[in-house]
Amino acid sequence: MKVFGGRKVWAAPIPDRMIPKPYRERVMVIGDACGTADPILYEGIYQARLSGKFTAETFCHALDKEDFGESELARYNELLLKHLYEEDLRYSYKFHYLLYHSGLLERILEATYSMAQEDPEMMQSTIALFTGSESRKHSWEVMMSRKWKLIKLMGIKNSLKLFPTLVHALRI
Ligand SMILES: Cc1cc2nc3c(=O)[nH]c(=O)nc-3n(C[C@H](O)[C@H](O)[C@H](O)COP(=O)(O)OP(=O)(O)OC[C@H]3O[C@@H](n4cnc5c(N)ncnc54)[C@H](O)[C@@H]3O)c2cc1C
Repeated sequence: MKVFGGRKVWAAPIPDRMIPKPYRERVMVIGDACGTADPILYEGIYQARLSGKFTAETFCHALDKEDFGESELARYNELLLKHLYEEDLRYSYKFHYLLYHSGLLERILEATYSMAQEDPEMMQSTIALFTGSESRKHSWEVMMSRKWKLIKLMGIKNSLKLFPTLVHALRI
């Protein structure tokens, strides 16, 4: 909390993990509050709108059945998992962990850039991380199919540092 010109202003970081259960009886949580922002670029408008659409669809369904109980609203979570998490956010979490928790952000970017120079598929999937032209899952699979090259390019000292982070990211 800070005071600007006599007014109290609150701020909080954009949540970067989906909350495990974004629904309760008569309640659905959407957008940033639900943790749908992408933790690579911290963009969240598209996901907020999509989660709003899923909420509306679930609401209409519940209205037809006159049932706003938890088991009916669980449908909302299924839509989120299918359309936002499974192909994209889950893999954004992996990239996030690798890039921001390894302490090797610059080195990983350099190695990725170097690989992409002579590897069109790597180039395309790296660009897709910024443009969204391919799923995060695809970009992750392309990078992981070249993980030994990445490790080699990082050098022994950095690779030893990278390894536990990579193992953790693979398990997400
Ligand atoms: C500086 C900045 C730049 C960004 N740039 C991008 C970008 O380029 N592209 C992109 O995709 N995303 C970007 N984002 C993220 C994006 O803004 C959010 O992911 C998106 O706005 C989330 O939408 P939302 O509806 O979930 O939440 P919000 O847009 O935050 O809407 C929540 C609303 O609830 C209101 N509210 C809060 N508490 C209460 C309360 N108690 N009672 C009543 N109302 C309340 C707030 O005032 C706010 O209007 C950016 C974020 C920031 C901070």
